[in-house]
Amino acid sequence: MSRGITIFKKRTWNSNNISKKVVWQCRTYVNEGKEACDAKAVDEYVLQDAFV
Ligand SMILES: [Zn+2]
Repeated sequence: MSRGITIFKKRTWNSNNISKKVVWQCRTYVNEGKEACDAKAVDEYVLQDAFV
């Protein structure tokens, strides 16, 4: 069990829209569910803004 390290996984949410929604989700969240991690999905553009 390794806590303290947040690894985000890129996921593309299913959508009927032409523009797909790309988000990043914590790996723990993806693997173990929301009970294991309260980090929420982050929109891709939010991360991009953060790195500017
Ligand atoms: Zn997490």
